[in-house]
Amino acid sequence: MIEEEAIVLSMPEYLFMIIDFEKEIEGNDSMISIEHKDFLFTSVKEYIIPAEKVAHVQEGNNAEHALLVLTKTGYSSIPVLDAKDHLKGLLSMRTVTDSILGLAHIEYERLPELKVDEIMRKEIDTLKTTDTFQKGLDYLIDHPFICVTEEDGTFAGILTRRVLLKQFKKYIYNVQ
Ligand code: AMP
Repeated sequence: MIEEEAIVLSMPEYLFMIIDFEKEIEGNDSMISIEHKDFLFTSVKEYIIPAEKVAHVQEGNNAEHALLVLTKTGYSSIPVLDAKDHLKGLLSMRTVTDSILGLAHIEYERLPELKVDEIMRKEIDTLKTTDTFQKGLDYLIDHPFICVTEEDGTFAGILTRRVLLKQFKKYIYNVQ
């Protein structure tokens, strides 16, 4: 009878094993092989949450209103639009709190006088409705969602990591 020896790893050995495993995953581009990659080339338009269902604020709103929308919806970040529904930037809970951070305390009293367009993030990555799912995939590695616009900059909706993962799941299960 072969006696099985239990492998006991010390903490540093265990950590090195995890680091090696993570490196293996990162370095391996062909781990998941999906035969039918057609869906990668479909346009993001098919997968977006449309503008009318996306919580947003207007650039002229004050920071107090924005904080209310962020708190009520529970989203950490939302799009900012102008009066003609063009995408202008993104506003996050962190941006709002940063903007009222004083030296000794949070200056809540400043919220009504601060305008969204003074504090929003203007340099943001966006996709066009005609861009491919594959391009969306590249962006969603770094962002939980990405704003999608029409050619003229009108806000069309958002592509979220959740929707993308659901699509992946569907394709992987159907292919295997
Ligand atoms: P999810 O992948 O559904 O967890 O969404 C990721 C992020 O996308 C959320 O934290 C929000 O910032 C944003 N988001 C998702 N759905 C909406 C929505 N209906 N309105 C505004 N923002 C949204």
